[in-house]
Amino acid sequence: MCVDKTDLQYLKEAVPCPFCGGVNLTTTWWAGDDGEFTAIACMSCKAEAPAAVWNNRADTELFDFVKTFKDNLSELPAFLKQG
Ligand SMILES: [Zn+2]
Repeated sequence: MCVDKTDLQYLKEAVPCPFCGGVNLTTTWWAGDDGEFTAIACMSCKAEAPAAVWNNRADTELFDFVKTFKDNLSELPAFLKQG
């Protein structure tokens, strides 16, 4: 698992939770057979995923849409600007 980013960098790049749309995210640690690694956790619905894959979406069209909005923060509704 790639660990070249800091927790803060992961959080800064993280798109909203794929399950509840929540933007109140934090980092946590997962321990697996291949060692420990950073995971992103949603504070709203408790969903977690390894930080390296948190931004992955099976629906790439929707993902591009979300990413575009994140890159244009001035166009975001106020509730999405938090976090
Ligand atoms: Zn969530």
